[in-house]
Order: sequence, then structure tokens, then C-alpha cells
Amino acid sequence: MILIYKKKFIILSVCLIFFVCGVMSFFYGIKTATLILREEIIVIDAGHGGIDGGVSGTITKAKESDLNLKYAISLKNVFEKQGYRIVLTRSTEDGLYGTAAAYLNEDSRKSQDMKRRKEIINQAEPVCVLSVHMNFFGKSSARGAQVFYNSSNPESKRLATAVQNKINNLNEEYVGRKITQLPGDYYIVKSIEYPSCIVECGFLSNPEDEKLLLNADYRERLVYEIGNGVLMYLKTRELQS
Ligand SMILES: [Zn+2]
Repeated sequence: MILIYKKKFIILSVCLIFFVCGVMSFFYGIKTATLILREEIIVIDAGHGGIDGGVSGTITKAKESDLNLKYAISLKNVFEKQGYRIVLTRSTEDGLYGTAAAYLNEDSRKSQDMKRRKEIINQAEPVCVLSVHMNFFGKSSARGAQVFYNSSNPESKRLATAVQNKINNLNEEYVGRKITQLPGDYYIVKSIEYPSCIVECGFLSNPEDEKLLLNADYRERLVYEIGNGVLMYLKTRELQS
């Protein structure tokens, strides 16, 4: 009798173990599948940094390099919510010159900085790259967010067009017109083969744009539109492949 109970107990225990393992692997399996689906990397490059502050606001003197970083971090959050892995070329206010910087002049530091950005991008093997900047022009009337791309890379043009289409929602609202994406001669988009574009978020030489660019709500709205443009581009590319 005791032997029969023992046998039943062993059979029940084995069944229970199999059941628990089954449930665990089911959920673990789903979790793993989700992670695999979201393995793509997007690189976000906050332009300038360190000795190179970029341009600055005519009213507040806000530094472009600081604003670029804020926008880059907000964009990171947008893409992470969609499950993408994000690599930032810089996550602090420092430039990327390495420890030898003390012995380098300003030009050498800048070229070291750009070389390092290129290395980070190539190591990440991203699905796309966004380089975030603030614009500046002699005529203070120039306004709005505009995207630039390397004209010899058709994928970069598609990415730039998708992003410009979305950010034009804000350009129409605040500038009163749509703006067209343009080919641009920028080192970062010319020196890499991944789909990439420069997003000039607005003009620090225009008082209204400057006010908007410093406003956290506007920043969230703009990065939301940029994010939508990028996601639209990535989806279209997935469907084509
Ligand atoms: Zn810039």
C-alpha cells in the first residue's frame, strides 16, 4: 500500500515538474522572442560637445551642444519604448577625444572626436543613425526643423524624407509651411554607409524657434514626430525586404 502511494507520489511529482517547466519555457520563450525582435540598434548622435559647443541662442545663449544632448536623450526614450536598442555617441557634455586630448590642439581634438563618432557607429552596425543639431543662420527670420542627408545614399534619402514628413506637422503649425529635406555635405552622414540623416531641430538664430527649442513640451512633441518618421521608414524597409 505504502509502495503504491509512493509510486503515485513520484508520478504526480514528475508531472508537476514537467508542467512547471512547460509553463516557464512558454513564458521564457515569448520573452526571448520579443527581445530577438527588438535587437536592432539605432545610433543617436548628439552633435558637438566639450570644447565644441556648436552655435548658441541669440537671446539665452543656450549652447547647441547641451540642447543636442537633451534631444538625443529624449529620442533615446522614444525608441526604447518601442523596444529598440539605442547607442548614443555621447551621453555627457564632454567631447570624444579620449585621454590624449591634453596634448592635442583644437582642430586635432575635433577630428579625433569625429573619428570616434564614426567608430562608435560602425561598431554598433545600426539600422539607422540620427545626428541631432540646432541650426543657425545670418538672417534671423529663418525658422523650422529640417533634415539633411547624404545624396549618394538612397536609403538615407528615404529616411530623411520620412522624418521630414512627420516633423512638418510641427513646421506647419509653428512656421506656417512645410520644409523640404535637403542633401547636405556633413562629415558624419558622408563617412558611414548606414542610413543616416542630420536633424536640424530649429534655428537658435530665430527668437521664436529658440524659445520653442528650450521648451520641454515642444521637445517631446518634436522627438515624437522624429521617432514616428524613423519607425515609418524602418517598417517600409522591413516590408520591402
Ligand atoms: Zn551643429
